[in-house]
Amino acid sequence: PAKITENDTGKINMQVVDSSNQEDVATALKRPAQSSNAFDLAEPIVENVRARGDIALLEYTAKFEKAELLSPVLTAPFDPKLMQIEPELKESIDLACANVEKFHEAQIVDTLKVETSPGVICSRFSRPIARVGLYVPGGTAILPSTAIHLGIPAKVAGCKFISLATPPRADGTPSPEVMYVAHKIGASQVVLAGGAQAVAAMAYGTESVAKVDKILGPGNQFVTAAKMICSTDVNAQVSIDMPAGPSEVLVVADKNANKEYVASDLLSQAEHGADSQVILISIDWSAKDIAEMQDAVHRQATALPRCDIIRKSIAHSSIINVDSIEEALDLSNIYAPEHLILQVDNASSVVDLVNNAGSVFVGALSPESCGDYTSGTNHTLPTYGYANQYSGVNTDSYLKYITSQELTPEGLQNIGQATVRIAEREGLQGHANAVKVRLAKQ
Ligand code: NAD
Repeated sequence: PAKITENDTGKINMQVVDSSNQEDVATALKRPAQSSNAFDLAEPIVENVRARGDIALLEYTAKFEKAELLSPVLTAPFDPKLMQIEPELKESIDLACANVEKFHEAQIVDTLKVETSPGVICSRFSRPIARVGLYVPGGTAILPSTAIHLGIPAKVAGCKFISLATPPRADGTPSPEVMYVAHKIGASQVVLAGGAQAVAAMAYGTESVAKVDKILGPGNQFVTAAKMICSTDVNAQVSIDMPAGPSEVLVVADKNANKEYVASDLLSQAEHGADSQVILISIDWSAKDIAEMQDAVHRQATALPRCDIIRKSIAHSSIINVDSIEEALDLSNIYAPEHLILQVDNASSVVDLVNNAGSVFVGALSPESCGDYTSGTNHTLPTYGYANQYSGVNTDSYLKYITSQELTPEGLQNIGQATVRIAEREGLQGHANAVKVRLAKQ
């Protein structure tokens, strides 16, 4: 059913950018500015929780979630009453978990062993990060899918202690959908808190919240700021997955693309939040094609319940029409989208041209929604251009790699003299001696 408010009945239009105007293209590909005062707001919250522990955490939960709790933590085994959901949804979550598990299990690689010189054997093996904290947002929506996409790889990697933090509802209980996933991934603890305070509690530990070694998961600007603050404090000794920003998609569509599909993909992203951004790069479209596209976007958007949010995100979203697939992918690689959708002929052959993207959706029948939920790839992805240097969450995000070497007498002969020479040139006689005393005995 259409839901157009009285104030908001204007046509929803993406701005159309002339690709020959470099300045306009650069402006269109700029992300909406992020507020920097999130750090100013998050910092005292982090400090308060670090200093006052549970009491501060409970105060923030009362303030932001309007929930009065006696304890901020639920400990496994969780009460089945907290995870009651209808059987069909359970089956769907089970299917999503199974596919995410299959894909992430396949990412585990065998121990690497290489004989670099005769008698010198170098190895690399992985070990799980022992304690991980997963942040599952809950401010504006319940997100069991994020619990799946963070939790299943943690389970697959073999993390011993999984803590899952999520803001409780006003009655103090967590969402049953998220609790069902917490149970499925074998979480040891659920922290009923959100925002910067939940991140700080997991980073430093409180009387009841366990300290973790790494914090992963998306969240709003306060969550992201707190993750960044804690990860740079040596006293916290905690790492994070990646900085995160508002969600985004870039769709590349050629003349044969189905405009209804393209519109639905753009809107599935635009409904995330007012600061989300969607970009369409069309290849060789006529003015009529673009007008049809705008009509499809408007028609579909005004039938969506989150139309008001879409109006705001579409306001900073654009259509850029280019001449060739190469030109389209050049622009996409500059933008480095979190999600890249290829609705073009022979889409799979275009993947070779992709250098920067979080996750790629290949062909007309691969909507982003399937990756968001059930296909098996991870939906926690780098945003805001960070796909230039970060990967999305994957099994490696929960592992450390340790290297080792073992030398035989022949191996020591083969690399000993070179080691001594370089050590002496660096003025580190002790290093040189450690080889010399051994060579002397052989
Ligand atoms: P959230 O759980 O991240 O944040 C809610 C918390 O924000 C509250 O618990 C409160 O503690 C804190 N907060 C609210 N107002 C505050 C204030 N004025 N000062 C200090 N703290 C305050 O939930 P959200 O707000 O709905 O945000 C979720 C975000 O996560 C969205 O931006 C969404 O797009 C993103 N997300 C991204 C992915 C991904 O994979 N990239 C997946 C899911 C969600």
